[in-house]
Amino acid sequence: MKCRYSRCIFGGGDIEPGKEVEVSKGRYMHSECARYNATIKEIVRLYSESIDRTVVFSELQNVINKIVFDKKVDPDFLLFAIKKAILNKTKIRAPYGLYYLVNDKDMIDTWKRKKVQKIIKSVPLAEPKVPQDFKYTPASPKTLLTITEGL
Ligand SMILES: [Zn+2]
Repeated sequence: MKCRYSRCIFGGGDIEPGKEVEVSKGRYMHSECARYNATIKEIVRLYSESIDRTVVFSELQNVINKIVFDKKVDPDFLLFAIKKAILNKTKIRAPYGLYYLVNDKDMIDTWKRKKVQKIIKSVPLAEPKVPQDFKYTPASPKTLLTITEGL
């Protein structure tokens, strides 16, 4: 099946089985394309609701497309940068202000650290070490019998 994302990041080809997401009835996208699509929508929503309610949508969309598709900035990072800017009350006077956000060294460093933390969190913890004073007592035949009887 074909990816329905108009800006398919894999060039619009067929989707490998198992990598598709149904975005609406009968419309499929690559899961990555669906992520781009949803994240960009969220960026537009945040910008128009929290930064500038009078923004010209075509202008905003244009800047976002340039950042994400031409400059190859992960839309997750752009979303993160906008959220941070809103929290820090950073002034963004026009959509092109987003360029400054994604080029900001501190912003990039914070994002990288956050990603590293995410990776560390997702790594399973090593098996807990058996305490030194722990003694292993094999079950006596009697105990084993009681356990099997209960089955
Ligand atoms: Zn796609």
